[in-house]
Amino acid sequence: MTVVFAGSFNPLTNGHLDIIKRSTKMYDKVVIVVTLNQKKKQINLKKIQNLIEKTIIDNNLDNIYVDVWDGLIVDYMQKYKFNYLLRSLRNCNDFNYECDMQSYNKGLNNSIEIIYLIANPKYMHLSSSGVLEICKYDITKVKDLVPKPIYEYLKEEYENI
Ligand code: ADP
Repeated sequence: MTVVFAGSFNPLTNGHLDIIKRSTKMYDKVVIVVTLNQKKKQINLKKIQNLIEKTIIDNNLDNIYVDVWDGLIVDYMQKYKFNYLLRSLRNCNDFNYECDMQSYNKGLNNSIEIIYLIANPKYMHLSSSGVLEICKYDITKVKDLVPKPIYEYLKEEYENI
């Protein structure tokens, strides 16, 4: 069974990586799709794709494919005939947001099933926006919050400001 893990991953955190690792143990193939979140500031989708690919190699993970999609995730899934979408839940805010998103997505394509994994307690507080906020002040403080290739990239980006 193939599952699509979609998100903006700007940047990918150890929380995302934990979900990816857990999902590879459950599914034959995991397709990570980097999408635009209109509410969030977004860097280049290709850059995010490339950093996730480096992280996958760095962690010796197999059966993962990373793609980008500038559109509705239901359209991506329909185009490539994927049926299972994976999302994860950290707290009640995520739950409320995901309930709305599932209503929209089910309304657009009822044949897609959405699977939810509860975040690892270690990473329940961790968000991409939190990481970016800390980066503005002290890049060294995000070292343990993101995978190594992401940290190297953020260091270059923020040290040159
Ligand atoms: P989006 O902008 O589409 O919500 P994100 O990159 O913020 O994309 O998140 C993608 C998915 O990863 C979402 O299901 C989100 O709940 C989940 N996620 C985000 N941070 C964590 C974390 N620390 N632990 C586990 N899951 C997370």
